[in-house]
Amino acid sequence: MSPSLTRPDRRPERLLILGSTLTVLLIVGIVTALLIREQANTLQTAKRTANTITQLIDADVLRNVELYDMALKGLIAAAERTDLQDVSASIRHLVLFDRSAAAPYKGDILLLDPNGEVIADSSLLTPKLGNFSDRDYFQVHRENPDAGLYISRPFMARCACDDPWRIAFSRRVSSPDGRFLGVAAASMRLSYFHQLFSSLNIGSNSTINLLNHQGILLAQEPLLEAGMIDKDLSQRPNVARMLRERDGSFQSTSSVDHQARLYSFSSVGNLPLIVAVALSSNEIFAPWRRAAWLVSIATGVLCVGLLWLTWALCMELRRRHRAEQVLSELAATDALTGLANRRTLDERLRLEWDRAQRSTEPLTMLMIDVDHFKAFNDRHGHQGGDDALRAVAQVIDSNIRRPADLSARYGGEEFAVVLPHTDAKGAWVIAERIRISVERLPRVAGGRQPVTVSIGLSTWHKHSRNTLEDLLLKADQALYEAKHSGRNRIVDAATLPV
Ligand code: GH3
Ligand code: MG
Ligand code: MG
Repeated sequence: MSPSLTRPDRRPERLLILGSTLTVLLIVGIVTALLIREQANTLQTAKRTANTITQLIDADVLRNVELYDMALKGLIAAAERTDLQDVSASIRHLVLFDRSAAAPYKGDILLLDPNGEVIADSSLLTPKLGNFSDRDYFQVHRENPDAGLYISRPFMARCACDDPWRIAFSRRVSSPDGRFLGVAAASMRLSYFHQLFSSLNIGSNSTINLLNHQGILLAQEPLLEAGMIDKDLSQRPNVARMLRERDGSFQSTSSVDHQARLYSFSSVGNLPLIVAVALSSNEIFAPWRRAAWLVSIATGVLCVGLLWLTWALCMELRRRHRAEQVLSELAATDALTGLANRRTLDERLRLEWDRAQRSTEPLTMLMIDVDHFKAFNDRHGHQGGDDALRAVAQVIDSNIRRPADLSARYGGEEFAVVLPHTDAKGAWVIAERIRISVERLPRVAGGRQPVTVSIGLSTWHKHSRNTLEDLLLKADQALYEAKHSGRNRIVDAATLPV
């Protein structure tokens, strides 16, 4: 057999692919971890912002409620003074509402008698007639002497004004023995909250809410739904959680518009009020999402680039490997006949010799020489001679079948065949086949004589003491004998006289 292509070594290629894949996985892993961390940081920052907003609102609301409470306490203290009966109505009015000027966004501050009738009004010297016994704050104070400062549900003021929504802060007026004498009530426009909340720019899809402990919505900015003020939201899961926990933050979906939001909420001092800031998750994560997109695209391009480079490098490796294979094949092959060359023959012979020594299997060597080739060349020219050599080589190669067998051009018009695991008898059969096949080669135009070969056969077997050099020498001697005894024949070296 002529030398064949060796199997390509795919290890460098596999290492390259493995390395690149691991690098890509590492890059993707690191980028993913960084993005996740950045998302957590964004959430933390949003929580801090929401907390700051709730604290700001807490402080402002608390301060204002204190102002209202001061006004109410002043009104009650003045109302309890007996000496005020003797002064003029205007002085009495001044004293009663002395502390009420500081309260911002105030509606009317009223003093009601036990039946809910107005007995003093901060806005009029002579109070307008009116009965407020239907208001929740009046009923609460009438029933409960310990209600303290009561913050009412939102209600519509009895006026034809643009912003009729009010809430009232109220305190009970009691006699020294605890009898119900009436209620001091200060109403506040809900537009106060509107002003306060809208001064804090929190984004278009986020809301600030003020609820009382019953879950009644007192204010919301911006208003998500019309008619929400004074609605009982205590059944809504998010509100229920806030009423339960009073302070904290959580992420959830709004049951109104089904948008994800970060809810941050806290109680306003000791008042029965809860401020809740609901920041839109969309708005919180918008900058992060933009950055994540950019980073993902850049990472994707980087990874694809890396994989493409790997692919290009693999292709180059393969191309080189193929080129190397072709080169090594060329280096191992005889250019004219395509059989193994002398170098390959020497290597394989040494290899098979060593194997035979180990396995003690026989090893046979054929030395084949074309007969009268000088004369053939002279007759048919060098080109014709080359054609004949190729034809003889083809015949030799086609007559050996085992993978370990090797046919080679030894030099000039001489060939060698290495037959491992083959004794002299078996080798003779092959040699005879070669001899006959060559003899039967079609004659070259004008050729009278057939091309023939003489073959020297030499076998090493386990009882032989020959060296590799002896094996070659003996094959040569047998060939010489074949020439000498008439050519176109086979001579086994074993038959030669020692
Ligand atoms: P013998 O029967 O004794 O072998 O006679 P021969 O003429 O074949 O032997 P000899 O060694 O005298 O001649 C070998 C010839 O083979 C010489 C050379 O012209 C020819 N030859 C060797 N190599 C090549 C080759 O590559 N191409 C051609 N065309 N001829 C070659
Ligand atoms: Mg020769
Ligand atoms: Mg010859």
